[in-house]
Amino acid sequence: MMEVETSAPPRRAVPMAYGGGYVGSCNGLYPAPPSLVPGGGVAGGFYSGLERAIFWKSSHFHQQKIRGGGRWEYTFIAVDIHYLCDGTLLLPSSPAIAAATVSGMDFAELEAVEGLRWPWNAWTPSRSEAATLVVPLSVICTPLMPLADLPVLPYEPLSCSRCAAVLNPYARVDYRSALWICAFCHSKNSFPRSYAGIADHNLPAELFPTHSTVEYLLPNKNPNRNSFPSTSSFASLSFYTSSSSLSVPPAAAVSVAGPAFVFVVDVCSAEEELRALKNEILHVVAQLPENALVGLVSFGSMVWVHDLGYAQCSRVVLFRGDGELSSAKIQELLGVSHSQTPKLASSQAIQKQGYLLPVSDCEFSFSTAIEELNRFSDALPGHRASRATGAAVSTSVALLESYSPNSGGRVMVFTSGLATTGPGMVAEIELSRPIRTNREIVSDSASFHEKARNFYQKIAQRLLNRSFVLDLFACSLDQVGAAEMRFPIEASGGLLILTDSFESDQFKKCLRHIFKREGTDHLDMISDARIELVTTNEVKICGALGPCASLRTKNNSVSEKEIGHGGTSSWKTCTLTTKTSIAFIFEVGNYQPNTYPGPVFFIQFKTRYLHGDGSNRLRVTTAARRWATGSRSSSEITTGFDQEAAATIMARLAVNRIENYHPREVISWLDKMLIRFTAKFGDYVPEDPSTFRLPSGFSLFPQFMYYLRRSQFIDIFSYSPDEVAFFTWTLNKENVNGSLIMIQPTLFQYSFDGPPVPVLLDIGSVSPDVILLFDSFFHVVIHYGSKIAQWRKLGYHQDPSHENLMKLIEAPEIDAGGLIVGRIPVPKLIRCDQHGSQARFLLARLNPSATQKFHAGDPSRVIFTDDVSLQDFLEHLQALAVQG
Ligand SMILES: [Zn+2]
Repeated sequence: MMEVETSAPPRRAVPMAYGGGYVGSCNGLYPAPPSLVPGGGVAGGFYSGLERAIFWKSSHFHQQKIRGGGRWEYTFIAVDIHYLCDGTLLLPSSPAIAAATVSGMDFAELEAVEGLRWPWNAWTPSRSEAATLVVPLSVICTPLMPLADLPVLPYEPLSCSRCAAVLNPYARVDYRSALWICAFCHSKNSFPRSYAGIADHNLPAELFPTHSTVEYLLPNKNPNRNSFPSTSSFASLSFYTSSSSLSVPPAAAVSVAGPAFVFVVDVCSAEEELRALKNEILHVVAQLPENALVGLVSFGSMVWVHDLGYAQCSRVVLFRGDGELSSAKIQELLGVSHSQTPKLASSQAIQKQGYLLPVSDCEFSFSTAIEELNRFSDALPGHRASRATGAAVSTSVALLESYSPNSGGRVMVFTSGLATTGPGMVAEIELSRPIRTNREIVSDSASFHEKARNFYQKIAQRLLNRSFVLDLFACSLDQVGAAEMRFPIEASGGLLILTDSFESDQFKKCLRHIFKREGTDHLDMISDARIELVTTNEVKICGALGPCASLRTKNNSVSEKEIGHGGTSSWKTCTLTTKTSIAFIFEVGNYQPNTYPGPVFFIQFKTRYLHGDGSNRLRVTTAARRWATGSRSSSEITTGFDQEAAATIMARLAVNRIENYHPREVISWLDKMLIRFTAKFGDYVPEDPSTFRLPSGFSLFPQFMYYLRRSQFIDIFSYSPDEVAFFTWTLNKENVNGSLIMIQPTLFQYSFDGPPVPVLLDIGSVSPDVILLFDSFFHVVIHYGSKIAQWRKLGYHQDPSHENLMKLIEAPEIDAGGLIVGRIPVPKLIRCDQHGSQARFLLARLNPSATQKFHAGDPSRVIFTDDVSLQDFLEHLQALAVQG
């Protein structure tokens, strides 16, 4: 994979490399019974020379076990493509459409193949009809989701000359004329000479029906970066030369440098906190690849930029923290301005590299500088520490800007208190002056908030211009100003982590996550990503909700209506993880009956990024779905409804609205949408709520909306602005699975009666003789019923004669560990007893089926709240829905 060739697919390589290879894997994923395969071939894309075979898109298989019958039934969804082999020639027909039977579809299974979730799997081509669906036409895309058997192709993609869609399995190919017809715009494109060998028995991988997603290794503009793994030694050698002979111009060195990290450390932290932080930074820096660049900036009321290349003694450049300096001015003061480079003597050139050096060159001076960081706070009694967080961020970004590391750069801020001075300050230094609340922010009366946000908007633009990432690790019992900093963090794809302490496991795991290396000599860090969409003519893009920024590239497929980051067909994000999910919202063009849109439509997702190994890559996913038209259109729309994806989209829309509307208005908007939704899809006799029924695939949706209304995303007045920023940032990047846990937490019950069972998220599930395991994504709570808690306190679980109790107590511990693994941000694990104060994390999210107003039986089970219960909510909803 590392030997990058820029030529097109070699003639014989395709069938040999892909034909034989994927048969097993496809059949492994989607075992197909031979009796169901037309023509007697093997389903799943098997291809063997001149045999008669039928290709199906294996990703569109869906297996479903018929209950009781023990028989496997295969259904298609969306579209299948028939490539008929008549013995001599394989001519892909235009995408032939099979009647889609989508009932009981496992959307998660399909997501594992495509990396996409569609609230609606069949779309109506009518704009007015689409508006009545309530949940917008949309796709939740995980652009870099790990996919089984993803082909990585060592050549450049062929793109349509008119719409720029990349060649994909849905294109029609005419081998004799060496042409392909774009599925998006129907333009004819000719194959270049390198595809001369293309034939039915020699297809390039990107045309294989099973490969709706492929990844291209693009040629690198920078020749030094293609064979990256072998240059890691070269990188250190060149830097070694530069620092000993003082003659190599910095530009040469930078060209082989790895990613750059500027550690921004708040020195007002308490002594033990600072010690824990320093240890952790030293730990991750020791694990960095040798060519990674590191820099150190510390701040209190002032900002210190540490010179790591100055061996004689420790040297820092000091900036005032209370003023806002331009990037150019900061660079000038540091003596690192680009424009001055040629004029500087070589010794000065070396000196100016001192702020950002390859770790192999400065390991010693970096650890010395870290170890020498002492707590420095000039806070007077009755005052907060003076923290120039904003100036420190701006200075660090300027430092990265002066070097423009081309393998990505991160500014990582570690702080344990409020920004109280200079740009980005959010509170005054006197303790008597309170910190802004959500109520003040909502009513526009929070002093400093708007100003700080504007400052961070500018920071965001600077980060996006150069593909740098901003991370915030706020380890503090107090707020730090995360609400104001969220925008650049989210837009650049950075991490926003709020925990209590630098000593916490949560902090350490999140930090180490960034520096993950899985058996390679490079970090698993992706940089400089750009996502571009190509759509069928009738599909228009409204915008994206998630960690990205609009590139304002407007074309025919961009709608006038903007939702989230809109007005564009492409978005930028400075980094992506394999889990980052972005929601794209669409609408359909005003379709006229005489311009009937074909039976299917297409959306192509093109994600260009810089891989951790230094290679430039382009991942292309081409997805097809049916237009729901004709007499069966409404049943097609209904059966293709994915209520989990729909709840995720509604949650993202709601948090997007919270930015501009009062939470009360957002709740009433959600209610209005839900009533319209249930009125449309419910089955009922008008004016008779008792007859109300929802189709099976819709039944959970009202419940999701109920819990969303009560969640931390909408009920923001119970939380601080920093907490809300943290919750919102997390929701905005999470996939459907994770989002659902945030919206409606999961609850499992462990008892002596049998294996753990999922129970209702209801106060009725709390019982003295069971253990509950609760997961709200942010908190994982092990809740011991009062009896179990008492037995545990008496030590029964350590008594061999009570092995059952020991096992009962162990089981949720093990399962909780499983929930936490791999989740970023790492959830907080809470163990609590019934009636204990920590039990509030659980109680706050339970359905108050028994409240102080209405309850029967055990008074200890009562939740004190004015919230309406789920039962009341649903009854009320039905009554409203049947009014029509
Ligand atoms: Zn085209």
